[in-house]
Amino acid sequence: MPHYGFGLFMCRNNSPYSSTAIGAMEVDDIISYHDLVTEEKAALQKGMNFGVGKKYSVFLMSLRENAPYADALDPATGMLTFEGHDEPQRRGGPNPKEVDQPLMTPRGSGTENGKFFRAAMDFKSGLRAKPELIKVYEKISRGIWSYKGFFELIDANIVSNGKRKVFKFSLKPVEKKSFGRVVDLPHNRLIPTTVKVEVWRRDGGQCVQCGSKKNLHFDHDIPFSKGGSSLTAANVRLLCAKHNLEKSDKILSVAPWLFASAAAASHIHKLPG
Ligand SMILES: [Zn+2]
Repeated sequence: MPHYGFGLFMCRNNSPYSSTAIGAMEVDDIISYHDLVTEEKAALQKGMNFGVGKKYSVFLMSLRENAPYADALDPATGMLTFEGHDEPQRRGGPNPKEVDQPLMTPRGSGTENGKFFRAAMDFKSGLRAKPELIKVYEKISRGIWSYKGFFELIDANIVSNGKRKVFKFSLKPVEKKSFGRVVDLPHNRLIPTTVKVEVWRRDGGQCVQCGSKKNLHFDHDIPFSKGGSSLTAANVRLLCAKHNLEKSDKILSVAPWLFASAAAASHIHKLPG
């Protein structure tokens, strides 16, 4: 298991990644666990947290090789398949990985699996008008997380692998728009975790332009609109919020011809007769 030296940067209560502008997170932002707790106002420990936000739930996922659950993100569609949770390990009890994932607790209330399963079924049957909204964070390394944006819980299944039954939750990415512009990046542009880890190590956990360790983003060196690919580390780099913004401004500066033609159009309309 390679070690990338994250420990050099991390400090429990004074993380250099601490964001002052938390609450304005963008998809693929890197945050510390402390930031995550601040954002959600809860010290989340479990992977599934039904209704923890006032208007949404939270999933903590991991795509790492040694991850305890088989979560999967489809790079083509952005769809997330999130595996349900095992029985808690009980002293003298069976290996949780060898028994069915539970729908109910021994006392008869719904487990997190049960709550999300019901939400998905209620949505499919029309009992609830809107799907459950789920905010997703991905664990990158110990204490380091990546914000994945909002998803909608549109389906759930109980599948058997021949040995036991597990829950599979189907989540569809939500694209948030503000003033007609997509705020959350389309999820099919998400950067694979392996690439993120490689980029993080190569760039030393800091902005490649100024060395800042705050408000970092994984940046596509070549915009997708111009054919850039996120699939290799060569096209991805770490930028702080300031330099990320400066880059966006440069891209937007291509647009003046739009205003020029709009002005021309309005001029035409003002022609008499
Ligand atoms: Zn910078």
